[in-house]
Amino acid sequence: MLFRPDGKDRLTGSRTAQSSPYDSYTCHFCGSKPQYHPEYITERPWFAHRPDDLTENGRQHCPYVNPVEKEVRRILKLRRYVADAQPVILRTDWHCSDCGNNYHGERYCVSCGTGDLSHMPKEAS
Ligand SMILES: [Zn+2]
Ligand SMILES: [Zn+2]
Repeated sequence: MLFRPDGKDRLTGSRTAQSSPYDSYTCHFCGSKPQYHPEYITERPWFAHRPDDLTENGRQHCPYVNPVEKEVRRILKLRRYVADAQPVILRTDWHCSDCGNNYHGERYCVSCGTGDLSHMPKEAS
Protein backbone atom coordinates (compact mmCIF):
# COMPACT_ATOMS: atom_id res chain seq x y z
CA MET A 1 0.00 0.00 0.00
CA LEU A 2 1.21 3.48 -0.83
CA PHE A 3 0.07 6.68 0.80
CA ARG A 4 0.81 10.31 0.30
CA PRO A 5 2.36 12.22 3.19
CA ASP A 6 0.44 15.48 3.57
CA GLY A 7 2.07 18.32 1.71
CA LYS A 8 4.13 16.08 -0.59
CA ASP A 9 3.43 14.66 -4.05
CA ARG A 10 5.40 11.47 -3.66
CA LEU A 11 3.71 8.34 -2.45
CA THR A 12 5.30 6.55 0.47
CA GLY A 13 5.32 2.85 1.27
CA SER A 14 4.86 1.50 4.75
CA ARG A 15 8.58 0.80 5.17
CA THR A 16 9.70 4.27 4.21
CA ALA A 17 7.12 5.70 6.56
CA GLN A 18 8.94 4.14 9.50
CA SER A 19 11.36 7.04 9.39
CA SER A 20 8.57 9.56 9.91
CA PRO A 21 5.76 7.66 11.58
CA TYR A 22 4.07 10.75 12.96
CA ASP A 23 3.53 12.42 9.61
CA SER A 24 -0.03 12.65 8.56
CA TYR A 25 -0.90 10.57 5.51
CA THR A 26 -3.68 10.70 2.99
CA CYS A 27 -4.99 7.91 0.81
CA HIS A 28 -4.52 8.98 -2.80
CA PHE A 29 -7.63 7.09 -3.83
CA CYS A 30 -10.32 8.15 -1.43
CA GLY A 31 -8.80 11.03 0.55
CA SER A 32 -9.19 9.27 3.90
CA LYS A 33 -6.55 9.56 6.60
CA PRO A 34 -5.15 6.13 7.30
CA GLN A 35 -3.59 5.17 10.58
CA TYR A 36 0.01 4.06 10.48
CA HIS A 37 1.19 1.07 12.46
CA PRO A 38 4.99 1.22 12.50
CA GLU A 39 5.38 -2.23 14.13
CA TYR A 40 9.04 -1.74 14.97
CA ILE A 41 9.19 -5.06 16.76
CA THR A 42 7.83 -7.29 14.03
CA GLU A 43 9.26 -5.03 11.29
CA ARG A 44 6.09 -5.45 9.30
CA PRO A 45 4.70 -1.93 9.20
CA TRP A 46 1.32 -1.32 7.65
CA PHE A 47 -1.32 1.28 7.06
CA ALA A 48 -4.95 0.83 7.95
CA HIS A 49 -7.98 2.87 7.06
CA ARG A 50 -9.92 3.76 10.16
CA PRO A 51 -13.46 2.40 9.71
CA ASP A 52 -14.85 5.28 11.75
CA ASP A 53 -12.93 7.92 9.81
CA LEU A 54 -13.53 7.16 6.15
CA THR A 55 -14.67 9.43 3.40
CA GLU A 56 -17.87 8.31 1.72
CA ASN A 57 -15.91 7.34 -1.39
CA GLY A 58 -13.46 5.35 0.70
CA ARG A 59 -16.21 3.39 2.42
CA GLN A 60 -17.67 2.30 -0.87
CA HIS A 61 -14.87 2.25 -3.38
CA CYS A 62 -11.35 2.47 -1.97
CA PRO A 63 -9.38 -0.57 -3.13
CA TYR A 64 -7.45 -0.47 0.15
CA VAL A 65 -10.62 -0.72 2.15
CA ASN A 66 -12.30 -3.24 -0.07
CA PRO A 67 -9.79 -5.83 -1.21
CA VAL A 68 -11.25 -8.16 -3.80
CA GLU A 69 -13.45 -10.79 -2.29
CA LYS A 70 -11.25 -13.66 -3.40
CA GLU A 71 -8.31 -12.09 -1.60
CA VAL A 72 -10.33 -11.66 1.58
CA ARG A 73 -11.26 -15.33 1.56
CA ARG A 74 -7.61 -16.28 1.02
CA ILE A 75 -6.54 -14.14 3.95
CA LEU A 76 -9.17 -15.56 6.25
CA LYS A 77 -7.86 -19.03 5.47
CA LEU A 78 -4.27 -17.89 5.92
CA ARG A 79 -5.07 -16.34 9.29
CA ARG A 80 -5.48 -19.79 10.77
CA TYR A 81 -1.72 -20.12 10.40
CA VAL A 82 -0.48 -16.53 10.26
CA ALA A 83 -2.36 -14.40 12.75
CA ASP A 84 -1.49 -11.02 11.26
CA ALA A 85 -1.82 -11.84 7.58
CA GLN A 86 -2.74 -8.76 5.56
CA PRO A 87 -4.50 -8.81 2.23
CA VAL A 88 -2.29 -8.21 -0.75
CA ILE A 89 -3.87 -5.63 -2.98
CA LEU A 90 -4.13 -6.88 -6.51
CA ARG A 91 -2.19 -4.62 -8.88
CA THR A 92 -2.74 -5.30 -12.54
CA ASP A 93 -4.13 -3.83 -15.73
CA TRP A 94 -7.72 -2.67 -15.63
CA HIS A 95 -10.23 -1.48 -18.14
CA CYS A 96 -13.07 0.69 -16.93
CA SER A 97 -16.17 -0.12 -18.94
CA ASP A 98 -17.89 3.05 -17.85
CA CYS A 99 -15.46 5.64 -19.23
CA GLY A 100 -13.16 3.43 -21.31
CA ASN A 101 -10.13 4.25 -19.19
CA ASN A 102 -7.23 1.78 -19.23
CA TYR A 103 -4.98 1.96 -16.22
CA HIS A 104 -2.56 -0.02 -14.13
CA GLY A 105 -2.44 -0.48 -10.39
CA GLU A 106 -5.17 -1.01 -7.85
CA ARG A 107 -8.71 -1.45 -9.02
CA TYR A 108 -9.90 2.13 -8.87
CA CYS A 109 -10.80 4.28 -11.85
CA VAL A 110 -9.83 7.82 -10.90
CA SER A 111 -12.20 9.53 -13.32
CA CYS A 112 -15.21 7.54 -12.10
CA GLY A 113 -14.21 7.43 -8.43
CA THR A 114 -14.89 3.71 -8.26
CA GLY A 115 -13.43 0.40 -9.36
CA ASP A 116 -16.79 -1.31 -9.60
CA LEU A 117 -16.96 -1.05 -13.38
CA SER A 118 -13.34 -1.96 -13.98
CA HIS A 119 -12.39 -5.38 -15.24
CA MET A 120 -9.22 -7.11 -16.24
CA PRO A 121 -9.06 -6.77 -20.04
CA LYS A 122 -8.63 -10.51 -20.47
CA GLU A 123 -11.67 -11.25 -18.37
CA ALA A 124 -13.86 -9.14 -20.61
CA SER A 125 -13.27 -11.07 -23.83
ZN1 LIG B 1 -8.47 4.93 0.67
ZN1 LIG C 1 -14.00 4.97 -15.36
